[in-house]
Amino acid sequence: MAKRDYYESLEIDKNASQDEIKKAYRKLAKKYHPDLNKEPGAEEKFKAVQEAYEILSDESKKELYDRYGHAGVDPSAAGGAGGFGGFGFNEFDVGDIFSSFFGGGSRTYSNAPRKGEDRFLRMEISFIEAAFGIKRSIILNVDEQCSNCKGSGAENKSDIEDCSTCKGSGKIRTQQRTMFGVFETSNTCPYCKGSGKTVKNKCNTCKGEGYVQKKVTVEVDVPAGISSGQQLRISGRGDRGLNGGPNGDLYIEIVVSRHKHFERKGNDVYITIPISYVDAVLGTKVDVPTIHGDVEVEIPAGVQNYQKLRIKGKGIKSLKGSSIGDQYVILDIAVPNKLSKSEKDLYMKLREQEQSKETLFEKFKKTFKLK
Ligand SMILES: [Zn+2]
Ligand SMILES: [Zn+2]
Repeated sequence: MAKRDYYESLEIDKNASQDEIKKAYRKLAKKYHPDLNKEPGAEEKFKAVQEAYEILSDESKKELYDRYGHAGVDPSAAGGAGGFGGFGFNEFDVGDIFSSFFGGGSRTYSNAPRKGEDRFLRMEISFIEAAFGIKRSIILNVDEQCSNCKGSGAENKSDIEDCSTCKGSGKIRTQQRTMFGVFETSNTCPYCKGSGKTVKNKCNTCKGEGYVQKKVTVEVDVPAGISSGQQLRISGRGDRGLNGGPNGDLYIEIVVSRHKHFERKGNDVYITIPISYVDAVLGTKVDVPTIHGDVEVEIPAGVQNYQKLRIKGKGIKSLKGSSIGDQYVILDIAVPNKLSKSEKDLYMKLREQEQSKETLFEKFKKTFKLK
């Protein structure tokens, strides 16, 4: 792939001043920094911006680049005119880069307390449980801070000492001179793993881990009106924190299983009920099941197939409880396919009567046009 022009990478033109180059670099490095920008390609852009800045901020390299292009300064070409020790951002602590370039502020120490990762669970509940809410207990293994050592891992407070390797900072820093100026490279201290502390006598309760795993029962209060895909947050039941930080949270995604007869659309409930051809013609009263129990519904004479009737207020309460949906009853009119002798006689009589007038089909045929 062709290498991008350094001026293009920094979004500046060829006669930009050193000041403008620096400004452009700061803006773009921040924009594409992989810790801040998770979009695909951001990391590549970040690297390109860095490389461009390394060359253009150095007058002698800039001159070579202006004259010979990438060939003059290509950092990867061995023996290239401007060869320099390549450095990727991986070699630097992100916090350090930021504090040196952008005036700090977001500097993080690896031994500062940090909240643990969140955990995710799925919980399947029934249609009716979703409509009316449900309390469920789940049993989880949760790491809790050891109460004996308060997370320090030491039997006594006096057993905690500053790490002698990193002098308690949790990091080993080395200074490095680059064309940017002087940089501090910093790595997590391998001896204390960044905590900055070492423990003389380990806590007996947690064996020095600072936490204990417990089986805990979590009461999950699923509110009425919840629907599939919605999440409940249970604070403090996620993964354990670092350096005495709090646990992350637990998120429970609700999956509502299908009901054999009821279907939900928003807070309304739909049900399809079968009624006979005769009842559709003459009208009737039926006890229709709703999630709140049976409701007597009057089916008027002459209803059509798939006609929808509404039962007000018999749907699902909204999550905040401020409103309630309706139930819709869809009529599925069944045409009989088996008739007793007497039934057949009655239908025959019906047809004889109908024959005296124009049938629906004859009416349709008369107005039917092919084109
Ligand atoms: Zn302990
Ligand atoms: Zn250390």
